[in-house]
Amino acid sequence: MGVVRHVDDNVVHMSKRQILVVEDEQDIAELVALHLDDLCDEVVVAHDGHDGLRLATSQDWALICLDLRLPGPDGLEICRTVRRERPYQPILMLTSKSSELDRVLGLETGADDYLTKPFSVLELVARVRAILRRIDTLRSLPGGDEPKTNEIVAGEITIDPSRREVMLEGHSVDLTAREFDLLEHFARNPGRVFRRADLLDKVWGYGHEGYEHTVNSHINRLRAKIERDPSKPERIVTVWGVGYKFSSEHRAA
Ligand code: CA
Repeated sequence: MGVVRHVDDNVVHMSKRQILVVEDEQDIAELVALHLDDLCDEVVVAHDGHDGLRLATSQDWALICLDLRLPGPDGLEICRTVRRERPYQPILMLTSKSSELDRVLGLETGADDYLTKPFSVLELVARVRAILRRIDTLRSLPGGDEPKTNEIVAGEITIDPSRREVMLEGHSVDLTAREFDLLEHFARNPGRVFRRADLLDKVWGYGHEGYEHTVNSHINRLRAKIERDPSKPERIVTVWGVGYKFSSEHRAA
């Protein structure tokens, strides 16, 4: 059981598993903090965009639960700033209505996951559990000095799951946590066709029925980072009427 703390209390401790909640609506902030409290050592709540931005960029968090509409810098600005500094920081974005969700997806901010208000506490907890499980899996993997025994080589892309590193034609590629999971899943199953619902199930986990547009958005972002010409993808290929598949074969440069 953790402790809910508000931003004006004192210094943040680095070793604990901490979740940052940035939410200006007091009732929602308290509800979210109350339920996430069981899943981590400490929940820190910021009530506006200024505190949110400062705290979000101050350290690594197990998760940042980020409201879109905030006084001061809004959720999109905070998300973009955090992403520039720490591409792997898990971020769950809260939006007020589905039209805002479209805006979030359209702007390609790089949030790992989204919930539209009003959301059920069960769904919130399930999403956060799924994100934290991923972090536990990463922590249990060998450290940076271990030999690279489990690299995935797919054409000119090399994926190191233990370091969460992707190299493309000799250059490092910065991917968000979700983009990395998606690419790793594809690269482990080259040539296999996945429906969007399959990808939601395997990469996002529980409770994402109806979020197929999230898959499209993440695939577009991933393509922008790994395809020579994202408008003519050769690596993550659309299989019309079905879904996507990964190809490690491509034309010569
Ligand atoms: Ca708000």
